[in-house]
Amino acid sequence: MASYVLEADLTWTGAAFESEIQVEVDEAGKIARAGRLGLTADRRLAGLALLPGMVNAHSHAFQRGLRGRTERFPQRSGNFWGWRDQMYALARAVDAERFRELSLAAFLEMRAAGITTVGEFHYLHHVQRQDFALDEQLLGAATQAGVRLVLLEVYYRLGGINKPLREEQQRFETKSTHAFWKQLDRLAERIDPARQSLGVAVHSVRAAGREEIGAIHAESLRRGLVFHMHVEEQRQEIADCRGAYGRTPLALLLSQLGSCENVTAVHCTHSEPDELASFAQGGGRVCLCPVTEANLGDGIPGLSPLAAHPASLCLGTDSNSRISFAEEMRWLSYVQRLKQEQRAVLANERGEVASALFAMATTGGARALGVDAGRIAAGAWADFMTLDLGHPSLAGWTAETLIDAFVFGGADGAIQATCVGGRWE
Ligand SMILES: [Zn+2]
Repeated sequence: MASYVLEADLTWTGAAFESEIQVEVDEAGKIARAGRLGLTADRRLAGLALLPGMVNAHSHAFQRGLRGRTERFPQRSGNFWGWRDQMYALARAVDAERFRELSLAAFLEMRAAGITTVGEFHYLHHVQRQDFALDEQLLGAATQAGVRLVLLEVYYRLGGINKPLREEQQRFETKSTHAFWKQLDRLAERIDPARQSLGVAVHSVRAAGREEIGAIHAESLRRGLVFHMHVEEQRQEIADCRGAYGRTPLALLLSQLGSCENVTAVHCTHSEPDELASFAQGGGRVCLCPVTEANLGDGIPGLSPLAAHPASLCLGTDSNSRISFAEEMRWLSYVQRLKQEQRAVLANERGEVASALFAMATTGGARALGVDAGRIAAGAWADFMTLDLGHPSLAGWTAETLIDAFVFGGADGAIQATCVGGRWE
């Protein structure tokens, strides 16, 4: 790809929209320079605003296949665990082709929603025993969709604390830490380094023993990889963990891991405030998935302990029951407003909420995934989205109000295009 210079009517430079900003994209698909460079644009984005593409830090792409299929309750009751049985049924039923179709559909929908990087928390590995055939399908689907992929390869050995895997969990199995790292090494050979990278995950405290969690984390640190885990989405998990280990899952991580600087805990819906504060203090990050958490009736996380650590937060579409990052940002803000009976929840030091939410949706996710994306600045990947300044849902915008108008009132249709690694296709 030849290098080129972009200029939109307005460009998001991290804290504000500015005009007359040129962005130079290099041959490798990164941003060489950005600012008032006095260059003539090769590509003039008239009527558009240029923003960093958004970073989805937590997804299970194949769960796109459940959309519209888990919303009826003949018994007039339903919870997370009932939904999980339906998800297991899907996981057992998909073949390689269907898995790829669903992943591709999810990734294309993400791009249309302004998401240019996805952290895929990938635990559905096998078609036949231990073949990891679906890992390959996932890489293929991401390549086809052109989305930047951080494949968070998931370790999954147990079917509950100290319990063997259930029949319906067999396709998730990683037999040992040795076999797991062997597969990571295989994947490292297969990925496209221009658009794909690896991270590791342990599914949850339910899926691995505490020593294994510690060992996988230690090796992730040694390899310079990010480490993700589902943490405290459900009260049952906390009760089981207390029963087995005498402490909560988050306390177990704090005691078992040493440094939490590469760790992202997904959900933390029912976390103890002091443990959450210690975790963030130690560099840990929290990924919230507000639309999924609402859909599953998980509960509302208490975010006050994280107020001093705004950079620790990021967002994910998780079950992909809906793929809209604008909606994730709004849900995050609105449930907290409802809970706290306040409007300025999650505001940054300038009192701006939309900017703070957009930072979570971009740089927050990028940090959690270990990619230099989510910002329009030299050295970052040239991953962008554009907003149609003529879109009715943004009407009345000014350079000062546009980010607020988009975050709180913008339709997904206002997102005109996305670009990954300098490529706009
Ligand atoms: Zn999840």
